[in-house]
Amino acid sequence: MKRYFRIALWLIAVLLIVIIVKTFMFRSKQPAVSLPATPPVGIEAAERLAGAIRIPTVSYEIDAPVDTGAFRAFREYLEVTYPSVHRLITPLVFNEFSLLYRWEGSNPALKPVVLMAHFDVVPAGDEELWSREPFGGQIDSEFIWGRGTLDDKGALIQIMEAVEKLISEKFEPARTFYLSFGHDEEISGLLGAKAIAAYLAEQGVEAEFVADEGMAVTVGMVPMMSKPVALIGTSEKGYLSVKLSATLDGGHSSTPEPESALTIIAEAVSAINSRQLKARISGPVDDFIKYVGPEMPFYARAIFANKWIFKPLLINIYTGSSSGNALVRTTTAPTIISAGMKDNVIPNRAEATVNFRVLAGETSEDILAHVRKVVNDERVEIEVLPGLSEPAPVSSSESYGFNSIMKTLRQVYPEAVVAPTMMLASSDSKHFTEVSPDIYRFAPIIVTSEDMARIHGIDERVKIEDFLRGITYYYYLIRNSNDEELQ
Ligand SMILES: [Zn+2]
Repeated sequence: MKRYFRIALWLIAVLLIVIIVKTFMFRSKQPAVSLPATPPVGIEAAERLAGAIRIPTVSYEIDAPVDTGAFRAFREYLEVTYPSVHRLITPLVFNEFSLLYRWEGSNPALKPVVLMAHFDVVPAGDEELWSREPFGGQIDSEFIWGRGTLDDKGALIQIMEAVEKLISEKFEPARTFYLSFGHDEEISGLLGAKAIAAYLAEQGVEAEFVADEGMAVTVGMVPMMSKPVALIGTSEKGYLSVKLSATLDGGHSSTPEPESALTIIAEAVSAINSRQLKARISGPVDDFIKYVGPEMPFYARAIFANKWIFKPLLINIYTGSSSGNALVRTTTAPTIISAGMKDNVIPNRAEATVNFRVLAGETSEDILAHVRKVVNDERVEIEVLPGLSEPAPVSSSESYGFNSIMKTLRQVYPEAVVAPTMMLASSDSKHFTEVSPDIYRFAPIIVTSEDMARIHGIDERVKIEDFLRGITYYYYLIRNSNDEELQ
């Protein structure tokens, strides 16, 4: 007995040593950057963003009419506001409004870079709730207010400011830069980004990398991290909505059969909801752990450095919150259910819709197979609704593009830790998988969870200082592309 006890103690000691050694070997992946970043433009750029906010380029629903005058006015606004860009480049126009600028590089051997943004915005919602006019473009001592300041006219204007400045400084990029500005991102980008990506693919353009909106410099949003974390989305989840329906003779509620269309659908929804897909650490989340883990306090670092033993604990931590849960599994959300008209009539038809957000590494086919298995009832018809998209392929966090974004981020936001991650929402860049395997979803905005609620919500606004810093980011991202070291 004593011997076994001794062996157990030895094993625990060895285990502890392995855990501690692995924790110490879990080194930071943040590059040291000593280059200074000098802001290329002054506060007057805030007024130019405000001008863009005042043009109400609102997207409503797919196929719903829009204010075409506003969309045209936006293009004219860019022409007038950025004369150096337009003297050098005439943008191509796609489906009347979307724009593609091609800024030719001096070295045709280098692959081009695509910088994306969109200039449509979601409606303001209840304007009464706003403390400033949503399309007023008001500026106070701290903020620029209005719909689109964060999503995503801010980034578009930052790109234009950076390029205008660089062209006026006679900067010549070695790589060709494409600026791709969609007009319908908020309604899936079918006429804008999709058409632009198809055109580039047809032209045989293979981009070194594509950078679009998505993630941001987050403050206080990554648990156990006191420093800001600049998150770069290296994949985005897929989107699948499934309609379940059943038809069965109804009748009078005074003489019910044991089952009806309604009970069958209710049970199917309940089965799907109670048997969720398995939680798993996918590629982008694994990369996130590698980048963020070494920056954490010791106890957390020990857990992240020893995934081989703490994986179940990690999964438990993630699945403990709805946002963490969404990072580690294909989520299941019943969203619509309908059956019945009258309290004493058994309906002969019932329908329900369930929305899944598919994790990288799984496909819509896998999810459908899972649905069929858990429903396990031939009377339930299962139909895929329009709007399906597969998860985006995972982009490398070792590539030229990732390193170039990371280096620029460390230069402009030296206080922040950079990390790849999975993006839970969707962006126009999903249409660009033919143009490049390396797609990075990051816009240089600084957000707290409070700001997140303003995106698509009320009182959207951006700090003037943060907006200007985003211009600095794009300015250096482009300038650094001439840096030999990275090529
Ligand atoms: Zn957006």
